[in-house]
This record gives sequence, C-alpha cells and structure tokens, in this order.
Amino acid sequence: MQNAAILTVDDDPSVSRSVARDLRRRYGDRYRVIRAESGSTALDALREIKLRGEQVAVLLADYRMPGMNGIEFLEAAMDVFPLARRVLLTAYADTDAAINAINIVDLDHYLLKPWNPPEEKLYPVLDALLEAWLTTPAVTMPETKVVGHRWSARSFAVRDFLARNLVPYRWLRADEAEGARLLAAAGLGEADVPVVITTDGKALARPTETDLAAHVGMATTPASDLYDLAVIGGGPAGLGAAVYGASEGLRTLLVEQRATGGQAGQSSRIENYLGFPDGVSGAQLTDRARRQAQKFNAEMLTTREVVGLERQDPVTLLRFSDDTAVAAHTVVLATGVSYRLLDAPGLADLTGRGVFYGSAAIEAPNCSGEEIYIVGGANSAGQGAVYFSRFARKVHILIRGDDLTRSMSRYLIDQIEGIANIEVHPNTEVVGGEGRDHLERLTLCDRRSGRVSTVPTSWLFVFIGAEPRTDWLGDVVARDGNGYVLTGSDLLADGLRPAGWAPSRDPYHLESSMPGVFAAGDVRAGSVKRVASAVGEGAMAVSLVHRYLEGR
Ligand SMILES: Cc1cc2nc3c(=O)[nH]c(=O)nc-3n(C[C@H](O)[C@H](O)[C@H](O)COP(=O)(O)OP(=O)(O)OC[C@H]3O[C@@H](n4cnc5c(N)ncnc54)[C@H](O)[C@@H]3O)c2cc1C
Repeated sequence: MQNAAILTVDDDPSVSRSVARDLRRRYGDRYRVIRAESGSTALDALREIKLRGEQVAVLLADYRMPGMNGIEFLEAAMDVFPLARRVLLTAYADTDAAINAINIVDLDHYLLKPWNPPEEKLYPVLDALLEAWLTTPAVTMPETKVVGHRWSARSFAVRDFLARNLVPYRWLRADEAEGARLLAAAGLGEADVPVVITTDGKALARPTETDLAAHVGMATTPASDLYDLAVIGGGPAGLGAAVYGASEGLRTLLVEQRATGGQAGQSSRIENYLGFPDGVSGAQLTDRARRQAQKFNAEMLTTREVVGLERQDPVTLLRFSDDTAVAAHTVVLATGVSYRLLDAPGLADLTGRGVFYGSAAIEAPNCSGEEIYIVGGANSAGQGAVYFSRFARKVHILIRGDDLTRSMSRYLIDQIEGIANIEVHPNTEVVGGEGRDHLERLTLCDRRSGRVSTVPTSWLFVFIGAEPRTDWLGDVVARDGNGYVLTGSDLLADGLRPAGWAPSRDPYHLESSMPGVFAAGDVRAGSVKRVASAVGEGAMAVSLVHRYLEGR
C-alpha cells in the first residue's frame, strides 16, 4: 500500500500545515500525505489520484470552509473514493453538524480541534481507521467475480451470500461475452455455473457457502477449543453480545450460519434505531458492528451452523453440522427468526428464480421498469416496497387484511402513501405462481369476493412474518409452543423452578432452562422484535454471563 494517500483539507494554511506535519510524522513512511486548502482543489487531487490508479485511505476535512464545507467535500469525495475512511475536523460549537454528517456522509469519526497532543487524540483514531481500511475486502481483494445464469437459484444464492457478507463482487452472466471468456479461461462451461473467481485467480465451480467463505477470507473454524462465551447467531443480538463480551475481556466466539447482520442486515433502511435520525442501512450497521466486535478481538465464524448443545460440566459443548464441537463456559442463543414460507402451488420451485424471501436487495436493479409484487403488511414489507419503488415501474403490496394500520408503523404508511408508484391491494392473497425457468405469472385471490385473477410478473418478494428455527435444541432448552426460548421468570411454573434445574437460585432474567445458557433477541419468548431491543438484550445477557461466572 505504498501509494495509498491520506488527504487533509483545511482552508486555514497554518492548520492545514500542522495537520499534514502530524500525519507525516507518524504515517509518512507508509502513506503519502497530501494537503489541500479548499474542497475543490482537494477534489481535483482526488480525481488525479484516481486516474493514476492509486488509492486513498483516509480523508480529513475541516467543517468550516468557504465555498464547499467539509461535509459537502466528503460527500463529493465519496463518489471518487467510496471506501476511503472519512473524518471531519470541527470546533466544539459545530458538533451538531458533525453528528448530522455521521448519516449524510457515513462519517467514521469527528475530531474536535485542537487535537493536541496527537498521540492521544489524533493517532489512535487514525490507527483504527487505517486498520479498518486495510481490511476492507475491496482494498485487499479488488475483484471477486461471479459467473452464472440470470434465472438460477444457485447463482442467486451465491450473489446473495457475498452481498450479505459485504464482499464486493462483479456479476457476469454466463451467456454474455465476458462471462463466457472467463469460463473458457478457467476450463469450465455453462454447466459448471455458478463459478466464482477469487481475487487470487482460483475458479470455484458451484461452491458451497463454506468453500466460498474460506476463499474470500472469512474464518470458518474456531482458533481455540474453549471460550468464556459462545454466541450463536450473528444478528443484532449476537453482535451486541459479542461486542460487550469481548470488550469486557471474555474470550468470545460468535458463530453465524450464513451472514452476520441477521434480519437487520437485510433491511434497506432502519429508521428507528437510536442515533441515526436519517436512518441507516442494514449493511452499514452490520459493517460497523462487525468491525467493532473485531476491534475487541471477538472471534467470528461464518457458515457454521450449530446443531446441538450438550452440557459437559463445567462447560457447554456446541456441536456443528460437520460433527466437530467447541466448548464454552457460557452461551448466548441469538438465533433470531427466519422467514415463513408462502405456501401456494408452484412457488417452492421458483424460489430464487423470481420468488424471493425478504428484500433480496441485489435484485433491485434488475427490477428496473418492471411491475413487482410484495406480500406482507408489516414494517419489513413496507421498507421493501419503499426501496423497490425507486427501481420498479410499479410496486404492488398484497395484504390479507383491510389496510396497513394494524401491522405497519405510521411513518412507513405515510411514506408509502406519498409514493405514486406503490399500490396497496387489501384482502388479497397469492394462491399460485407459474413460469418455465423463472416466475412469469401469479394467481391472486380477492378474499372477500373469491374472485381469482392472473397477473404477469417475474418478481415476488415475500415478507410474511417469521418463526424461530430452534428444533435443533430439542428438549435441552425449554421452549414455548411456537419454538421461542423461555427465559427467567417465564420458566417458573407456580413458583417452581424448571425440571432438572440444579442451582440454588432462580434463573436469571435472560437465562434459559440450562444454567449458563442465555437467550437474547427475537428468539426469546416475549422479546420485542426490534433491532434496538435485540442489541440491548445482547448487552444485558453479557452482564448476566458475568453474574453466572462469578456465582459458580
Ligand atoms: C427486512 C427487515 C427489516 C427490518 N427493519 C427493522 C427496522 O427498521 N427497525 C427495527 O427495529 N427492526 C427491524 N426489523 C426487525 C429486526 O431486524 C429484528 O428484530 C432483529 O434483527 C432481531 O435480531 P436478532 O439478533 O435477535 O435475530 P436475527 O436478526 O434474526 O439474527 C439471527 C442470526 O442467527 C443466525 N442463526 C440462526 N440459527 C443459527 C444456528 N443454528 N447456528 C448459527 N447461526 C444461526 C441467523 O443466520 C441470523 O443471522 C427488520 C427485519 C427485517 C427482516
């Protein structure tokens, strides 16, 4: 990374020189430090760097500059170097502007002036940002390529997996010239797709998710046999538990079966999470949480499914689907919920080929100019509709009830009412789907009149609620009739502790019927199904983990 630059822009020449001097002192041997005295000259410099094919690692911009202020500069700079980390230099009086910038330009940090001594105030921030930049997949792995068929469920699954794990890739269709050239170069044919070409030039034909994870740099096997805390599930609750556990010195392992972020990672815009007044995409929130967990040395495994828990005092064994196991003193179950499948003839065969569960955001650009259908009346369906309305010609929301008021938040209903190309169809159900190699037609039924109609479409996005997938827990942990994990006082029947409960105390608030095993987030019976509450429960579970470890 010899050529990567750190660029600083400040209209006050003396401040500009002194930032550049401090930066050179610490980073001059590894980075080129470039300084500019206005937003426009800094942008010119960035464009020149881009043309030379070089990289920019960090941008530091003063907020108050004439002509173009720091936020405007960073916004424009994002178009040229979207992966560069962004820092705003502000005076104390401008902290509000800096906080706003966190959302507008996805600011990584704001530094209050003066930043002396730099060893305390400037370098720790920059060290962390440079480290994060260096581990950004696109920086170290410039281009993973996926060659596949347009309407292939397996090709979709590979792209969705990479996207949800925030691995940048280029998508090439096998029936287009460049895709065919790549297949030929790898000695493969159309029958082998999806083919993934990794950045080190390896061609993986029809890879499993575990192969793929290992080849794009994600850990899939634990580094140790024993942990203080094992967190199962990498959604907001699991990431919350991992951040708090690792930051408080617990040897923490997080195990995720598919992609960190969980349901929240699929959200196009979370608008009600504290601290993000302009909303935050699930991908952004996941990226930040993941980096935060890594910063505190939480170990994260992807594509590893936990299929069993077994008590072997004083530890609990987590069994993986490949028959290996890892031990932990305490466990947080944060496995959330999964989409319920829409049961109508024809749909199962078309899943991934026009029928998608959740927002499947990678398909949005392919919906340009098309009519699409969304099933469901809850917030996730509403968010999906708002997002897809920017691409599709028309978005139809199908709901079984009379209107959205009982199932969707007011802010989303208001947004939907204000978007001309969204239409809500009350009392309507999907009763079938057909198509040759992909979805071509849907059959709808008006629940009041019973009238059945057929509509042409290649896009159905299903958001019809979710259920916990906890069958693998068997009788090891008590669950309610719907599969949600019972915790705390819910385990006490008429004041009696659950059968087999050994400790001489009642279960702690988030503790399950197995001592030392806690549940947090959507998988817990009675939990509030929200990002904030999942994160909060993840954090709270860690404080109970400490109590459990101290009381043993
Ligand atoms: C599209 C969409 C939009 C949403 N928008 C909002 C919003 O705007 N605001 C809001 O507050 N809430 C929103 N929600 C709800 C919110 O995302 C959830 O409440 C939250 O993600 C729950 O977090 P969790 O960690 O408990 O579970 P999840 O997010 O469900 O994560 C669970 C994780 O566990 C993994 N897992 C499951 N089983 C295993 C296993 N056996 N081994 C290993 N890993 C396993 C899963 O793969 C998953 O990644 C939205 C949900 C969706 C689907």
